[in-house]
Amino acid sequence: MSEDPRRLVPRTDTLLADPQLADAGARLGRGVVKSAVQRVQQRIRDGEVAPPDAVDAVLAALPATAGSLQPVLNATGVVVHTNLGRAPLSPAAVEAITAAAGTTDVELDLGTGRRGPRGEAALAALLEAVPAAEAALVVNNCAAALALVATAFGQGRELVLARGELVEIGDGFRIPDLLESTGARLHEVGTTNRVTPADYRGALGPQTGAVLKVHPSNFVVRGFTRAVEVRELAAVLAGTGVPLVADVGSGLLRRHPALPDEPDLQSTLAAGADLVLASGDKLLGGPQAGLVLGRADLVQRLRRHPLYRALRVDKTILAALEATLRGPVPPVQEMLAADVVTLRERARALADRLTAGGLDAQAVDASARVGGGGAPEHLLPSAAVSLPASFAGALRRATPPVVGYVEDDRTLLNLRSVPSSADETLAAAVLGVAAE
Ligand SMILES: *Cc1c(COP(=O)(O)O)cnc(C)c1O
Repeated sequence: MSEDPRRLVPRTDTLLADPQLADAGARLGRGVVKSAVQRVQQRIRDGEVAPPDAVDAVLAALPATAGSLQPVLNATGVVVHTNLGRAPLSPAAVEAITAAAGTTDVELDLGTGRRGPRGEAALAALLEAVPAAEAALVVNNCAAALALVATAFGQGRELVLARGELVEIGDGFRIPDLLESTGARLHEVGTTNRVTPADYRGALGPQTGAVLKVHPSNFVVRGFTRAVEVRELAAVLAGTGVPLVADVGSGLLRRHPALPDEPDLQSTLAAGADLVLASGDKLLGGPQAGLVLGRADLVQRLRRHPLYRALRVDKTILAALEATLRGPVPPVQEMLAADVVTLRERARALADRLTAGGLDAQAVDASARVGGGGAPEHLLPSAAVSLPASFAGALRRATPPVVGYVEDDRTLLNLRSVPSSADETLAAAVLGVAAE
């Protein structure tokens, strides 16, 4: 009679006392190691693992870090992909985060030993990048910037906003709902397709807290349309004392030659906006943040508002933002600027490698998009590796996971959203899936 495998299952305490697993516990947390131990014990009972291999099996089952978020290769061709964490940070920003992660001088002047202004260096970097701004403030994201503006300028008063700019960003997030949730009243002007300076003029009164312009980042209205640009709107508001706040969303600092229709912080302020709001993790290519730049008195009102304390960012975000602004070109901007000839060469080299590995792989032309960051209709020329359709699902479960898409019954791995430094990892992941 064969022995009951349950009697051979190593005890939890014995396994946790193993020096390698104790080390892992010190690094990852004892609970993480313990749950891997319990999974392996079950596999021993199920006859899948031999008892003497228990420690090795636990080591193999341990996650790389104590957190469960894992690095993913974005082969969707959507450069700023919200579901994939938007902008990948530059190595310089990652280093800055690591340096700031411990105890740091975020709010202490080491020269005098007194309290210093929080995040001063990141704000200085923003002001250098956007010289039209007198002052800057950083909050948690662009939605937080809108909430702060609506609370400080619109509570118990009116925010004037064009009907064509009542935008839903995604996942049910509607800017008008956010604005109203602060207690501000919306005074909508114009129609879905048309608004004129006279519409804005007619809406102004003593009850007006601010005029808001929201960039429709993810749709366009075409045909019989009329919008009022910032310059025109600034002229309408001249002398009224009503601030003009423009949410440009994408976070472009300056005009971008590849994205001619995308508004940017510098030009929007130069055109007469009093404040501009934007995200840090879209086209700027930095960490999640909400940037507020513009007139010093208005920025100061926001900074002094009690709600600001609930929306301000962490030291690691300030560090990453500063490094994004001052450091080397971040990945998002490299991806936008990538030359299609180079992308095609990369696709050919990858396809050759995969074909040599016995796969049905081809280099094909493809289109990429900016994504959640803006420019909804703007296609960027790109190149992809084409594989059989069945690869899409298997690649999402590969190590590291690769997210592509299926088009015309083929899996496409679009290279504009993959850093060129990751081509080797991408090839290895695909070959690994093929070998399964
Ligand atoms: C993306 C976007 C937002 C929301 O930004 P978050 O940083 O995700 O909060 C707000 N307004 C516009 C115009 C946007 O494009």
